Amino acid sequence: MDIDLADLRAHPSSDVFEEVLAEVADDVRELVGVGEVADYIPALARVPADRFGMAVADLHGDLHTVGEADRPFSIQSISKVFSLILATQRFEGDLWDRVGREPSGDPFNSLVQLEHECGVPRNPFINAGAIVIADVLSSCLADPLGELVALVSELAGAEIPIDGEVARSEASTGYRNRSLANLMKAFGNIQGEPDDVLDIYFAQCALTMSARQLATALRFLANDGVDPASGHRVLDVEKARRINALMLTCGTYDAAGEFAFRVGIPCKSGVGGGIVGVIPHHLTACAWSPALDRTGNSVAGRAAIEQLVERTGLSVF
Ligand code: GLN
Repeated sequence: MDIDLADLRAHPSSDVFEEVLAEVADDVRELVGVGEVADYIPALARVPADRFGMAVADLHGDLHTVGEADRPFSIQSISKVFSLILATQRFEGDLWDRVGREPSGDPFNSLVQLEHECGVPRNPFINAGAIVIADVLSSCLADPLGELVALVSELAGAEIPIDGEVARSEASTGYRNRSLANLMKAFGNIQGEPDDVLDIYFAQCALTMSARQLATALRFLANDGVDPASGHRVLDVEKARRINALMLTCGTYDAAGEFAFRVGIPCKSGVGGGIVGVIPHHLTACAWSPALDRTGNSVAGRAAIEQLVERTGLSVF
């Protein structure tokens, strides 16, 4: 179809999104199932690879979907956005003494920089950084996991469950994450007991949400920190901008440069196959397809977000 881009930019809730999404699903059809599902977490290895769903939340509070947008999946590293939001809201110390704001250029579970950089992770979106954020949350909240689930549920407008089987499955095989937590403990950058902090981290990664719920929960990032449906301010504008900046530079691990180059919007991915993308002042999108590339990003999910940007002409640049 011919899309009137000027109209779409002027009226982001236009029905055009329905048609754009149908075309995007068509564009990526041949990529669905290309890649490998994450099998280093045994419970995730059973997820069928040939799934695809996508949702777009616009700034009028409307949702547009295609495919399996209501099928829940393991959000994995996308949970790192929610834990950072909670820490930004509730921690009164300087978070940035404990975790950096630079892309790592290394895989999400890499240990190498931590030794050279004295246990301070490069950013909150690699595993080491998210484990520090889990420690920060345990130091300032009586029930960090309960508060995180409450925040995610409130933002998504639904009770969001933790899949206990996925959490236990990762806990039983999470040797790298244990190494990261113990190394940071040795450098004094973890205050709690590493195993207790990891229990929170594994549980947050096992939050289970649909593309529709993720696009809904993070739509405030496209609207200067305010949920466009309820008018509720989740974060002040500077903090919301900073989360978007971190998503752009660090949200897809060692593929962040490639994402910025090809997709050009803030994105956060997880090894469950989800990718959330934010186009400030326009929309938040979530694509899901479980088969991943070598960097742990969904092949069809990335292509779908890229096609959405291409077809709408919306961009941060
Ligand atoms: N729970 C996963 C891990 O720690 C999260 C990684 C990811 O989604 N990139 O390895």
